[in-house]
Amino acid sequence: MGHLLEVKDLKVTFALRFGDLTAIDGVSFTLDRKEKLGLVGESGAGKSVTGFSIINLISKPGFISEGKVIFEGLELQSLSDKDIRSIRGNRISMIFQDPMMTLNPVLTIGTQMIETVMAHKKVSKKEAAEIALEKLNKVYIPSPEKRLQQYPHECSGGMRQRIVIAIALLTDPSLIIADEPTTALDVTIQAGIMDLLIELCNTENMGLILITHDLAVVSQVTEKIAVMYAGKIIETGPTDLIVKKPRHPYTKGLIKSLPGAQQPGETLNQIPGMMPTLTDIPKGCAFHPRCEIHESVCTTKIPILQEAGQKDHLAACHLLHKTLEETNGAQSTPEQDN
Ligand code: SF4
Repeated sequence: MGHLLEVKDLKVTFALRFGDLTAIDGVSFTLDRKEKLGLVGESGAGKSVTGFSIINLISKPGFISEGKVIFEGLELQSLSDKDIRSIRGNRISMIFQDPMMTLNPVLTIGTQMIETVMAHKKVSKKEAAEIALEKLNKVYIPSPEKRLQQYPHECSGGMRQRIVIAIALLTDPSLIIADEPTTALDVTIQAGIMDLLIELCNTENMGLILITHDLAVVSQVTEKIAVMYAGKIIETGPTDLIVKKPRHPYTKGLIKSLPGAQQPGETLNQIPGMMPTLTDIPKGCAFHPRCEIHESVCTTKIPILQEAGQKDHLAACHLLHKTLEETNGAQSTPEQDN
């Protein structure tokens, strides 16, 4: 059987007055049901554009210029706008950082949930209310009957995000794309929301794409990671390998900058410099102006993803032999890298 989602060589272009800009360049990955993939990188890396392009929600002047998105066996680019809208509303749900992007402040939670169910399923209002209650129970909302009567502003931030997840479940989707779903929340509440997403993936047989700048969050939630930089995936593989034995200098930098990655007394290690803007992507490896180990080849030749040691672990770097030495020296024994 095929994958739940297959993204193949995706390219997203923005057609601007002064010429075309490539925002996403050759991004490929797969996702199965119950699988969780983290799309990671700093702001401007292309994570959210990748997420939006899966549901064909890129705002103009952006468009998918190359590649394919195959979801449940259907090639989305070949479908009509109406069919894509139906998939977006039914089979794929999105969760955003700000719950108020989903919730309407002037309607009760019950009204919003019942309207959503009735727009997608041929059911009575009473049946729609029962479905709404069932989904609120699934996201562990206490006193769900009471919540249905309330307005969004009467709920806490964490509770609102749980309600948004319940709304996302109303159409029984098979894929959830969550874009920084906990960034605005308190750390203790974040963990509860992440645990909930993991549980729902398993119980509801869904795939999850978690888009975030926070490698620490992704490492707790996902089985695989794709690290993005300047519109490309520059390292991908099983989460455990990426976190414990990163091979790309950018991923290594992200990991070193995590709180807790330092030795006692060391300061937090930030990657110097900034993510380039789309109009100003450096030649060769886009990371080279920030890369401590770059050599002249890095300034002229674009590195492509290649095997980085173990199964399914790929990295796009000309100097993987060097980064392997560093990784072995710092974190592992040589025989682990066969
Ligand atoms: Fe650094 Fe060169 Fe590798 Fe790019 S290709 S990450 S510049 S070493």
